[in-house]
Amino acid sequence: MIMLFNTLSRKKEVFKPIEEGTVKMYTCGPTVYDFAHIGNFRAYVFEDLLHRFLEYAGYRVIRVMNITDIDDKTIAGAIRENVSLQQYTEKYIRAFFEDMECLKLKKAAYFPRATHHIPEMVSIIKILLEKGYAYEKDGSIYFRISSFPSYGKLSQYDFDRITTARTDSDEYEKEQARDFALWKGTKDEPFFWNTDIGKGRPGWHIECSAMSMKYLGETFDIHTGGVDNIFPHHENEIAQSEAVTGKKFVNYWLHCAHLLVNGEKMSKSKGNFYTLRDLLKKGYAPDGIRYLLMTTHYRDPLNFSEQSLKQAENTVKHLQAFHQRLFFATNINGESEPEIAKTIEAASEGFFNALADDLNISAAMAEIFSFVRNVNESFEAGKLKAKDAEKIIEFLNRINEVIAVIETAGEKLPGDIICLIRKREQARKEKNYQLADSIRNEIADKGILLEDTPYGTRWIKK
Ligand code: AMP
Ligand code: ZN
Repeated sequence: MIMLFNTLSRKKEVFKPIEEGTVKMYTCGPTVYDFAHIGNFRAYVFEDLLHRFLEYAGYRVIRVMNITDIDDKTIAGAIRENVSLQQYTEKYIRAFFEDMECLKLKKAAYFPRATHHIPEMVSIIKILLEKGYAYEKDGSIYFRISSFPSYGKLSQYDFDRITTARTDSDEYEKEQARDFALWKGTKDEPFFWNTDIGKGRPGWHIECSAMSMKYLGETFDIHTGGVDNIFPHHENEIAQSEAVTGKKFVNYWLHCAHLLVNGEKMSKSKGNFYTLRDLLKKGYAPDGIRYLLMTTHYRDPLNFSEQSLKQAENTVKHLQAFHQRLFFATNINGESEPEIAKTIEAASEGFFNALADDLNISAAMAEIFSFVRNVNESFEAGKLKAKDAEKIIEFLNRINEVIAVIETAGEKLPGDIICLIRKREQARKEKNYQLADSIRNEIADKGILLEDTPYGTRWIKK
């Protein structure tokens, strides 16, 4: 049984997808006017953990992540650089996919772009106009919040007491200050579409209603984002979608808390951000960054510091070294220890149960670390046999489908180094220690340190 905290009810609920065995999930993706920062990646890493864990639990996950390629900022960028909107956003879309790969974020099944879905948005807006949920004013079209009585159910704000929420000048003007733009009529902007509802461009919120329902249906299982998306973005998505279909839009809403810097949200506008590229340039490894962003529970704020990043890197190195070490036990013959199988089973169960409790990753990792300690003890005591090591490696590979930070030993080494290691093993067997040492030095010059243990040689990156 999987429990997820639903923002809609503010409670942990038993997760039950609409269609047995399949999860339909929508993630609000990047606005591609610049490189994403690691605050954004905290949200994407949390969503990746959720995606991976649901697959680990046996579900087929059909996921959609939108690309917002039209908004005030992408327009401003294209005008500044005197290029088309597509030319301007293309490089950031490419960069985003590269960053995703670097952090081992699973690909969604669909990455729809707003500019490719204007007809879908227009048809929703037309229905909203027909049904009286929307009205036109000076060429723009707004959603009439007073026509949708359950407005506010996600954010649980008391809207009677709030007259103006976030009020972007052209986003919220209208019959009532809180009505929001579905369609922005354009007069002299360079980027617009000529449509049945006039000349203009879509507001931000409508793209997510149109694209989620197109790919996932009118009602789907999970919608995610950062807490800053709850209001107004997700509240508005619910209003638009439910007003059109008359059906519940999403069953489970999950939101992650922010990545902070000195107690403040990391954001472009505050200038207190790092992109992934900034951190890689400083010499940090992607696995450490992924680990740091992943291992604080998603609903707890996470304060970023380079010190915590270094700690995360050490933890990952520790896990990787452990994994690596096991390969050198694979040549120790003997009967397997029944204790080891039990330890694996307990760790596996503990890991699953922790994540099934609203993705309690800290508890899940605690299970893994205590497992590592136990296995290391058996290893030191010379009790670990090839058969056990293989089972443990298989277990680690399995959980790595979820955490995705353990490199597989050997696979990551360049082929020439693997060949040198083998050559050195041979020299040692032949007791040609002089040759063995010179090969060791040659390998060290390539950044790999070898360590001979009673159970074989292991390697570690310098
Ligand atoms: P944006 O490109 O601003 O629409 O943001 C993309 C995603 O990143 C959204 O899900 C936001 O909620 C999320 N996000 C933005 N800043 C942060 C932050 N400091 N910490 C966590 N998530 C964030
Ligand atoms: Zn969205």
